[in-house]
Amino acid sequence: MRVANDANCFALSEAVDGAGRNARVVFGAILGTGVGGGIVVDGQALDGPNAIAGEWGHNPLPLPAEHDLPLRPCYRGRAGCIETYLCGPALERERLVSEDEALARYEARLARSLAGVINVLDPDVVVLDGGVSNLDRLYDHVPRLWGAHVFSDEVATRLVKHVHGDSSGVRGAAWLWGGPPR
Ligand SMILES: [Zn+2]
Repeated sequence: MRVANDANCFALSEAVDGAGRNARVVFGAILGTGVGGGIVVDGQALDGPNAIAGEWGHNPLPLPAEHDLPLRPCYRGRAGCIETYLCGPALERERLVSEDEALARYEARLARSLAGVINVLDPDVVVLDGGVSNLDRLYDHVPRLWGAHVFSDEVATRLVKHVHGDSSGVRGAAWLWGGPPR
């Protein structure tokens, strides 16, 4: 449960006085060596009977595309988990395509995955943390893509970068192709 607790702590700190301040519902998503998440509503971390609120990393990747197949195996014995596509090491696996194509595929996967969260939770803000969150282009590109999968004509949810997130431990995963994340 350590991962879940870390994710809740992150989501809470961002909701209280970070990138999600003044927002009622905050979904904090960690895109690091693993993929986790936490939910904060009215300044309180959601804590359900299974202590897994916000843990979206082992949901299946929505609408796998041709290049997402075959479904990637997960260490939990499943296949096609969001984590296997959105963790930092997943980006490194895309070396056979150009950097731009790899990032475009990643953004499309992230958009579809977050759209599933938005449809269920309808958060005001989605805050990203973890090494991959340092790719600044995500905040521009992903909201352009998620609308196609959100059950609303317009999506008011904002996608923002963490303010407090301590991603130093996973930051290395996003350093691809020998340069700083952008
Ligand atoms: Zn899994």
